[in-house]
Amino acid sequence: MNFKDYIRVIEDFPQPGISFKDITTLLRDGQAYKAVIEELARRFKDKEIDCIAGPEARGFVIGAPLAIALGIGFVPIRKSGKLPGATIEADYALEYGKDKLAMHDDAIAPGQKVLIADDLLATGGTIATSINLVKQLGGEVVGAAFLIELLELNGREKLNGVEVFSLVQY
Ligand code: AMP
Repeated sequence: MNFKDYIRVIEDFPQPGISFKDITTLLRDGQAYKAVIEELARRFKDKEIDCIAGPEARGFVIGAPLAIALGIGFVPIRKSGKLPGATIEADYALEYGKDKLAMHDDAIAPGQKVLIADDLLATGGTIATSINLVKQLGGEVVGAAFLIELLELNGREKLNGVEVFSLVQY
């Protein structure tokens, strides 16, 4: 299955110059969505991963079903102020200004092998911050999995050697 056929590209959203990769057109197709999760699961099933961590919101859409497919748990990474328990936080750069990502401080046990999952790797800022949070909790980041990778933004280089796997590249 060619996943690009299911991804809708919308130019100049959310601002001029951005070529937005809209995955809603893939997600609404049950066969395509299932095939994405199965292909990612195939890639990671023998890696002895303990859990998946994914940043809101589209990291949930990829990460949670992937966790189910692998028979392991899912840990949400959220914007600051959304998680009810005690959290750790880390700053990340947005196109305009800064924001914070947070995880529950007991979400990952020291030494657990964690796969980070998100829909799309762009500049890598979100995932670099996610990696930082998992490491703060003592987790071992064994890889980062994406549906889409935007190659010209070189997001991989921000991830300090963490192995990147993406199904579709632009
Ligand atoms: P980044 O931190 O730059 O790697 O990007 C963070 C998130 O922004 C990605 O996980 C996407 O959800 C979203 N994003 C960034 N660029 C695009 C794009 N061109 N099309 C769709 N989503 C994007």
